[in-house]
Amino acid sequence: MSVSIYPLPEQQPSVWQPASVVEAMQMKQQWGDHAVLVAGGTWLRTRWENAMAPLPQHLISLGRIPTLTGLSVDPNGLIHIGPALCLADLINNELIRNRCKLLVQACSEIAAPSVRNLASIGGNVMTRTGDLLPALLVMDAQVRSSDGTVERVLPICEWLASPVSKDYELLTGLMVPSTELVEQEYGYRYKFYLKVGRREAFTPSVVTVAGQVSLDAESKIRTIALAAGGGNAVPARFEELEASIIGQRLSKKLLQTLHAGVAAGFKAVADDYAGIPYRKRTAANLIVSELYKAWRKGGAADALES
Ligand SMILES: Cc1cc2nc3c(=O)[nH]c(=O)nc-3n(C[C@H](O)[C@H](O)[C@H](O)COP(=O)(O)OP(=O)(O)OC[C@H]3O[C@@H](n4cnc5c(N)ncnc54)[C@H](O)[C@@H]3O)c2cc1C
Repeated sequence: MSVSIYPLPEQQPSVWQPASVVEAMQMKQQWGDHAVLVAGGTWLRTRWENAMAPLPQHLISLGRIPTLTGLSVDPNGLIHIGPALCLADLINNELIRNRCKLLVQACSEIAAPSVRNLASIGGNVMTRTGDLLPALLVMDAQVRSSDGTVERVLPICEWLASPVSKDYELLTGLMVPSTELVEQEYGYRYKFYLKVGRREAFTPSVVTVAGQVSLDAESKIRTIALAAGGGNAVPARFEELEASIIGQRLSKKLLQTLHAGVAAGFKAVADDYAGIPYRKRTAANLIVSELYKAWRKGGAADALES
């Protein structure tokens, strides 16, 4: 039996290891589309192997740039995460485990341990379809990027909603509020992250949802953040829907409104695994069932009778 092997191109790419963001961006600007920035290379590899993108002449590794692997918390409780950190590093890091549990859960649902040892958080974000994005969206993460000269910081929802910049961009940091910071501002929040695929584990996502919600003693919604993505969809929040239900009591009727709102608002994309209606319904079912659990955990006993 012959096994087909990924054919290596005639000319192997050159691998470059810049020591700074400025140097990396100088290389990228010099070689343009003949070069690609590489963190873990796990997403890029699948694209090259499946002939979805050509192997470029130059690979610019981000692995030797110290500023891209930092991890710290500032006095305001904002966690600064270096984009080149791999998912396994984040899962095992005490600071992240204690103060950013939703991110740990999301990282743990991606691929398998061997991939998570290489796959970076920045690479996941830069694909614009990564399964970490719904979690980062509901955590109100911020994205810091640089063109090699100027740095800009944007809320991740704004960054994702804006068209892909024609200017080359290097992700230099992600900022995520720690659990204490969020709870100080909003009180206790019920949090969830769910990734649904065609099998239980080590599977591409069909739908990924995340959310944070806080209820008052009467089960009225004090704060809510919901996001959905998965497959080839660019994950997004449901901002209008969220704003429309603040202050409303979590009732059966409201759950029905939410179900319809999520299904209508989720910009799902069909692929070989599932069509759009299935993905929309799945996202709506997942989110509504989690809000039901949030009510079970902290809502007023009679709220769902109406
Ligand atoms: C077997 C397998 C299973 C997988 N399962 C999942 C899954 O369940 N969910 C999921 O979301 N993904 C999955 N992936 C895809 C991939 O592993 C992840 O998205 C991973 O987090 C990508 O990180 P990376 O460091 O490998 O990115 P890379 O492949 O190095 O890069 C990805 C993209 O980001 C760019 N990039 C990387 N870092 C930066 C930066 N700092 N600044 C600017 N651009 C940058 C690269 O140029 C490239 O365009 C899987 C991959 C494999 C091989």
